[in-house]
Amino acid sequence: MISKKGKVFLVGAGPGDPNLATLRTREIILQCDVLVYDHLTNPEFRKWVSAECEQIDVGRSPGRHTVAQDDIGKILVSKASDKQIVVRLKGGDPLVFGRCAEEMSVLDDAGIDYEIIPGVTAALACAAYAGIPLSHGDNGSSISFLTGHEDVTKESLRTDFAKFADTGGTLCIYMGMSKIEEIVTSLLQGGMPLDKPAAIVSNGTLPMQRHLRCNLGDIVQMSQTSDLVAPAIIFVGNAVGLSFRKSWFEDRPLFGRRIVVTRSTSQNSKMKSKLEELGAEVLELPLIEILPTEDRTLVAEAFAGIATYEWVIFTSANGAREFMRLFFLAYEDIRSFGPMRIACVGEATAAILRAYNLEVELIPKVSTAENLAQELVATDSLDSANILVITGNRNREVLVSMLETVGHAIVDVLPIYDTDFCDVSKAEDLENFTDKGADAIIFTSSSTALSYIEQEDDLILKKTAQTPVFFSFGPETSKTLKENNLAVAAESDKPSMDSIIKALISRFIK
Ligand code: SAH
Repeated sequence: MISKKGKVFLVGAGPGDPNLATLRTREIILQCDVLVYDHLTNPEFRKWVSAECEQIDVGRSPGRHTVAQDDIGKILVSKASDKQIVVRLKGGDPLVFGRCAEEMSVLDDAGIDYEIIPGVTAALACAAYAGIPLSHGDNGSSISFLTGHEDVTKESLRTDFAKFADTGGTLCIYMGMSKIEEIVTSLLQGGMPLDKPAAIVSNGTLPMQRHLRCNLGDIVQMSQTSDLVAPAIIFVGNAVGLSFRKSWFEDRPLFGRRIVVTRSTSQNSKMKSKLEELGAEVLELPLIEILPTEDRTLVAEAFAGIATYEWVIFTSANGAREFMRLFFLAYEDIRSFGPMRIACVGEATAAILRAYNLEVELIPKVSTAENLAQELVATDSLDSANILVITGNRNREVLVSMLETVGHAIVDVLPIYDTDFCDVSKAEDLENFTDKGADAIIFTSSSTALSYIEQEDDLILKKTAQTPVFFSFGPETSKTLKENNLAVAAESDKPSMDSIIKALISRFIK
């Protein structure tokens, strides 16, 4: 066995939005044995590590030093000496006001290898996400990164701001909010005019981002009456004054909304990225998990007689996906499927079959099993017909009994997957949800609603948290919620991601 050597990666996490991390940062976080992180790094990064990775919060942020710098150095040395791959994750770029030099010296002294991975520093990210140019033609031939203080406990400013009053360029001031009055006074004393354009971006790149544009003369008073909080960057300079019609980041339709998604993790990722693209902050509380059914004899029997059915009915996308997966394990050729007609509940289910060039003849206008049964009966093709229903382990009784009693069909049921309730107390975003609440919870099925109801004790919100409204994917889900005295704020027209997103936008757009 090749002996593993310990190493420390001094890594920039970027300003907040995890999508701004470099590929190298992601690769190293996925592999590391120990993650040592700061308060300002996004909790999302902690979801990237392996289950075995040890996570250490050293909580450095202005005014809050959970672990002293010397002790951080000791942790890095001791873990790396133990042959571990250690990631020291810092906000923004590690070398920009990140006290990286101290950690490099400690590692040098201990003879430990390290690598530095840059990150997007807050000034650049905040400018981009608030649409503030840092240079423009003649307006800005230099860009300076300054710091208000490196330590809030220090009384006075370290930087002589007056000397930066006539650089002719753009000033990007880190850690300046608590000393903003002194900074502005100093710039004015240095000769900077009162009408010099300025801006503040707080919580840049995050769903809580806010920004303010003003003149240097107004900035102190305006910052006090606004909801701009640290962390924030103050920008000053002529280029900063150029304004544009839209704020591409903050004007997105779901910007700042906290939306809870409840499907199993594997089903949620598309929905999560779509909602995030629209500006929402997505919390994942998986309430169900979809598992392939254990009973393989039923599957084998259904496949053996597959060509004898007149109709095959798929009640969900999960069922269709799992059926096709198993089908191609059993057969190589799609022609083994046979000449039956296909009916599906919901467009998403039909889309899975159409991907194999299988024609779907019937999708009920309203996506419920009852409506499917009614519309099938209306085709007059059910009398004594053999029908195979591909479904899960829940909610299939109504459909089957209607096909049998009203349609006089001969129905075989193939339960192809099981929907189990997930233990919500294990969800990584649970604390975030109970602490702060959310704007909305999306229930994608009756099972997600039932699982929520069963686990309500674990989902009790703090008093100060925002109470969410409930969105439902369709009539069955709404019925389950209402039967349990939970009000439905909106129901999507169709059980599809696009429809639920349309419903969310029409409810939340400002
Ligand atoms: N190494 C970091 C800076 C650490 S100093 C970097 O390169 O960005 C901490 C300061 O960075 C904060 O006080 C604030 O001025 C700025 N900052 C960090 N994240 C920020 C964010 N998301 N929005 C605005 N300012 C931020």
